[in-house]
Amino acid sequence: AKGQRRGTACYFSAEMGQAARARMQLLDSLRTATGSSQLFAVYQPKVCLKTERVLGLEALLRWRRPDGEMVPPDRFIPLAEQAGLMMVLGSFVTHTACATLRRLHEAGHTALTMAINVSHSQLREPDFVPLLAHTLHETGVAPQAIELEITESMAADDLTLIQQRLQDIRALGLSVAIDDFGTGFSSLSVLRHLQAQRLKIDRSFVAEIEHDSRIARMVVQLGQLLGMQVIAEGVETAAQQAMLQAMGCDQGQGWLFARPMEEGALLTWLSQRGG
Ligand code: C2E
Ligand code: MG
Ligand code: MG
Repeated sequence: AKGQRRGTACYFSAEMGQAARARMQLLDSLRTATGSSQLFAVYQPKVCLKTERVLGLEALLRWRRPDGEMVPPDRFIPLAEQAGLMMVLGSFVTHTACATLRRLHEAGHTALTMAINVSHSQLREPDFVPLLAHTLHETGVAPQAIELEITESMAADDLTLIQQRLQDIRALGLSVAIDDFGTGFSSLSVLRHLQAQRLKIDRSFVAEIEHDSRIARMVVQLGQLLGMQVIAEGVETAAQQAMLQAMGCDQGQGWLFARPMEEGALLTWLSQRGG
């Protein structure tokens, strides 16, 4: 009822009870999965739209349940956030992604960078930056090779705290990207306050680009005006690639180039394309 409008009432239905029980069960199995091989990271390449040269990777968390069912991150990450599990999951992804990047560098792919998604509760945690510094030190990865992806809505409730965190992150040498740009409810001025180096065009705007390219075009121009690099998410067709390139967007990520892959498959993929 609160979610609809404060001070209203609504009836508790059997479906709501079932949904709540299903969430509890999922959370229980997520707790068991934490720290087991059920959770792992996959990596999706980010490419230069013009040459299709690989510039870097984005780490994405995966959960495969013992029965083989894949639970999408859009389902279990919000649950982990609510249950206070995100710090543990986040540290796992950060550590895994840095260790993978180190191995990729050692395999000769020295120019690759790694983007890691960071959720709201992680960024608010007082230990977040010291832990990050520790992980970089432990895995021997240069901070300049790591980018953190945050969403604009993170700044909505506590801009001062988030600004401070981002400043500490930049002081360590990492860069920051704004993910899913244009889908949140923040004001444009938030973008200036966050001082991120990269803007990611949400894939919903890329998906509609052939029918309506106005928002994608606006995001590219906004990024350029603010001196940011712009990358398009969810590029699935050559037509989308061509349109993005024509509007001045120079980087892309999507199934057209590569799906997210486990480390082994990624190494094979990288060596097959010779770079
Ligand atoms: P995101 O960070 O915006 O990641 C991009 C999503 O788009 C990924 O979904 C990716 O698999 C998907 N994608 C990439 N290319 C294409 C394409 O061409 N077409 C389509 N239709 N989709 C494409 P995924 O892996 O399901 O992740 C969903 C979201 O879950 C992520 O969105 C991110 O917000 C969150 N997430 C994933 N891993 C992590 C993590 O380690 N930590 C945190 N905090 N969030 C994560
Ligand atoms: Mg992302
Ligand atoms: Mg995104």
